[in-house]
Amino acid sequence: MADAPNSPTNNFIRKIIADDLAANAHGTKVLTRFPPEPNGYLHIGHAKSICVNFGLAEEFGGQCNLRFDDTNPEKEEQEYIDAIKSDVQWLGFQWADEVKFASNYFPQFYAWAIHLIEQGKAYVCDLSAEQASEYRGWATEPGKPSPYRERTVEENVDLLTRMKAGEFDEGSCVLRAKIDMASPNMNLRDPILYRIRKETHHQTGDEWCIYPSYDFAHGQEDAIEGVTHSICTLEFQDHRPLYEWFTENLPVPSTPKQYEFGRLSINYTVTSKRKLKQLVDEGYVNGWDDPRMPTISGMRRRGYSAQALRNFCDGLAVAKTDGTVDIAQLEFEIRNDLNDNAARAMCVLNPLKVVISNFPEGEVKTLTAALHPNKEEMGTRELPFTKELYIDKADYSEDTTLGRKKFKRLVLGDHVRLRGAYVIKADETIKDENGEIIEIRATLVEGTIGANPPPEQKPRGVIHWVSATESVAATVRVYERLFNVENPGKDSESFLHDVNKVSLSVVENCFVEPAAAACAPETRFQFEREGYFVADKIEHTSEKPVFNKTIGLRDSSKK
Ligand code: ATP
Ligand code: MG
Repeated sequence: MADAPNSPTNNFIRKIIADDLAANAHGTKVLTRFPPEPNGYLHIGHAKSICVNFGLAEEFGGQCNLRFDDTNPEKEEQEYIDAIKSDVQWLGFQWADEVKFASNYFPQFYAWAIHLIEQGKAYVCDLSAEQASEYRGWATEPGKPSPYRERTVEENVDLLTRMKAGEFDEGSCVLRAKIDMASPNMNLRDPILYRIRKETHHQTGDEWCIYPSYDFAHGQEDAIEGVTHSICTLEFQDHRPLYEWFTENLPVPSTPKQYEFGRLSINYTVTSKRKLKQLVDEGYVNGWDDPRMPTISGMRRRGYSAQALRNFCDGLAVAKTDGTVDIAQLEFEIRNDLNDNAARAMCVLNPLKVVISNFPEGEVKTLTAALHPNKEEMGTRELPFTKELYIDKADYSEDTTLGRKKFKRLVLGDHVRLRGAYVIKADETIKDENGEIIEIRATLVEGTIGANPPPEQKPRGVIHWVSATESVAATVRVYERLFNVENPGKDSESFLHDVNKVSLSVVENCFVEPAAAACAPETRFQFEREGYFVADKIEHTSEKPVFNKTIGLRDSSKK
């Protein structure tokens, strides 16, 4: 179980920073960074990393850079850059200064590559990828030196210059560091520093046709920016000795220290940009921001608030092991936040008409209802009451033998309270030629708004309703989990086999009260008795309301 948010014990990096500050290791400076590659939209795992990096900087009065690790032009796009910036800001964080790009430092990286060559610590290698991997050996077996390892400094400078000038084909050669082909750490077996890639880059255009490897760029970017605490996930632990080799062998302006923590995984979810991209590209969902996606933009569109996501992330331990978190923990935070902050409203998803015999035709009686039962400061809304109303089909029964405790809704001949309005009594059921119930005739009990009727007219319960003539027809989208199993892909050929084929139901012709229909996109509601919903960020309008179901009122797995 996670510790309380921001407790000092659940985050070993917090302790390191506090100790560094106490020991004056970097003066009073705390600079972290969040370094996404712009090759997809950010997901819930990134949200944790954002909360860790920006959160720690904020907590210690420091700053956090947003830096795009854009060393691989093939898979990167401006669309992703824009989405990432907007996701970080939506979560409520602001990066220091301008957004940074690894590509800003390409000239510096190139100069450092020449520096390594001049020190006899890098060489141009003509082995094919296949040969190179053969020469690399195995974890248990040392590699052997490339036949190009002993090229002279002059030859290497000349070849790298010509690589940069575009004289060679992609794949024909690479620049490698000259470290140790027998190192037990494979990352130190003469890793690649530069590759030829004749690709147009989203930032640098056609200026470069050689690109630094991630490993040659990453640590140096931190060094250039003066990052004090370089925080990343565990898979980079084995790369740390290489990053340290670079900072020892290059005239870098600072020597950042890297700390690794466990990646966040959540059951019933995938957290890999590659897999999420597949879901988008192969049409399993309607885009990166589909409300079923665990992307930040998807969760936003689903109706999760930034604060709820941050509460979730802050409650997670930052530890040195990978772990899977139960999705119920996320859902708990979402519900908790919505229960506190979402306005109440009424929406009938499966409408059944009720005609009130003793209410005048054409009259609109404007009632007032609280927007939140416990938060007076949220104010009130106007709720029109008319002769014709809608209630939900499931809230009516003709079965007069149904017990009062068992069925706390409307029964023929009995009473129910309409939320925020009158107590009514069902007098008659109208059916169509197929025997289907199409209308209820009812009477209202005078004087029951905000007051109890006499005992013999005591309502069975309270149900939600809207005016049939004043409400607005709405589309409501209801979502189920995107995956059927806890660990998608674990016991099947591909995670795609575990996609839930019925994860979206679109319910047309729902009726929503006018105050809720008139809301701005992204307004969150609790539709009484139905759950939490949000006005769709993109498609919602007051005339044609579109709501996405965020989550049910209760954790149904706990019933
Ligand atoms: P993916 O595997 O989804 O592509 P990635 O690690 O390749 O993720 P990056 O763009 O490199 O994605 O990630 C930016 C930062 O976010 C990195 O510092 C990375 O460690 C962190 N990060 C990515 N996924 C997670 C996760 N599941 N939990 C915590 N941090 C993560
Ligand atoms: Mg990555």
